[in-house]
Amino acid sequence: MASDIPPFSGPPGPLFDRLCLLGIGLIGSSIARIARARGDIARTVVAHARSAATLDRVRELGIADVVEADPAKAVQGADCVIFCVPVGAYASLMATVAPHLKPGAIVSDVGSTKGSVVRDLLPLMPKGTHLVPAHPMAGTEHSGPDAGFAELFEGRYCILTPLPATDPAAVEKVAELWRRCGSMIETLDPATHDKIVAIVSHLPHLIAFTICSTADDLAEETKEAVLKFAASGFRDFTRIAASDPTMWRDVFLNNREALLEMLGRFSEDAHALGRAVRWGQADYIEDRIRRGRKIRHDLIERHQA
Ligand code: NAP
Repeated sequence: MASDIPPFSGPPGPLFDRLCLLGIGLIGSSIARIARARGDIARTVVAHARSAATLDRVRELGIADVVEADPAKAVQGADCVIFCVPVGAYASLMATVAPHLKPGAIVSDVGSTKGSVVRDLLPLMPKGTHLVPAHPMAGTEHSGPDAGFAELFEGRYCILTPLPATDPAAVEKVAELWRRCGSMIETLDPATHDKIVAIVSHLPHLIAFTICSTADDLAEETKEAVLKFAASGFRDFTRIAASDPTMWRDVFLNNREALLEMLGRFSEDAHALGRAVRWGQADYIEDRIRRGRKIRHDLIERHQA
């Protein structure tokens, strides 16, 4: 892992003239709020979403200068376009907007998977435009334009996965955008990114969804008891299990290989622990618990817990 992007050396003032956010939910609306609060990210922020309800709400919140229902019009004249929609929507949205991108425009995104983003966006990039995929490692279980807030990315990592041939000036600008959002920048190749997030984010969500649906499968009376006596362990799982179904369906389907690999490794380890429980191997059990505690302490020390 390396944060080898040099500090931004462009002129002072707003990074972009016109920043277009395709999707204005938790992540898009947080970027919009920061841009509004700071004033040095973009002179004009354009917001696009699918539904009239979201577009109306964004107008009410006053977090964008232009609210545009037509994605092709939304990207026109933008020097930076950021995809903030579920990753499963990228390919068709890109097919719609690609012919309308300004020459030299930077296209970036915030998606939770990166191999799929390169797969879906790169072939449609018009000549002379620049693709700089990004993934802010920050989020909550809430969605929609009301869920966003300006502090969301503060002190959190943002991983950029530029391709070797990407214009360094475009990468620097996207890195600077995220620095101005309060993030720390790292660069990775897309495959390594996808492997890492499979273990730190995607597998925990898969486990949370599974444990909640296993509890839900129990007989009615037991389920009530489960909810009545839900101790912190189960409650912690229910928080991330409350996340948006479309977003997570798309994440699982677009990081299939890495997620299945981590699930396989996890299943082996879970069975090993189960076997230790069956055979009363106290030392093995204690060792696993100690390793878990150590990881928690390490995270707290790195201010990431
Ligand atoms: P969200 O709150 O559900 O917002 C999604 C936005 O995308 C909404 O404005 C929605 O519009 C719009 N949208 C969905 N499909 C669309 C389409 N086909 N065309 C145009 N707009 C469309 O989602 P989010 O949590 O901000 O997630 C956005 C992206 O960030 C995802 O790729 C996700 O993987 C990534 N991410 C999420 C988190 C997290 O914790 N949530 C963290 C890091 C990265 P409507 O409201 O009109 O449907």
